[in-house]
Amino acid sequence: MEGEDETTGEDIGEHLVSKKKNNGSLIWRWFGFKISDEQQKDVFCREYTKQVLTKSSSTTNLFNHFKQRHKKEYEECVKLRAAAQTVKPSQPPAPKQTT
Ligand SMILES: [Zn+2]
Repeated sequence: MEGEDETTGEDIGEHLVSKKKNNGSLIWRWFGFKISDEQQKDVFCREYTKQVLTKSSSTTNLFNHFKQRHKKEYEECVKLRAAAQTVKPSQPPAPKQTT
C-alpha cells in the first residue's frame, strides 16, 4: 500500500459485501457492509455508500430509508417481496374480461 489517491469521503460502493446472516429479506440486495466490518454492524446503502445508515441491522430502518430516498427501488423491493410471498406453482392469473 503506497497511499495513493486518498480521496475525501470514501466511496466503498464496490467494496460492500452482502449480509452474512440473511434472513431472506430482499432488502439486503440494496444494502451491504464493509469487508472489514466482520460484525456487520454498520449498514451501507449501495446507492449512498458514503453514509452509514444504521447501527443495527433493522430492516425497518432500511425500508424507511428506501421510502424516503429511493422510491423506485423501494417499489421494486415491495413487488419482489410480494412475489416471493405468493409462491404459487404455475398458476397463471385469471384473464380479465373487459366486457
Ligand atoms: Zn440510500
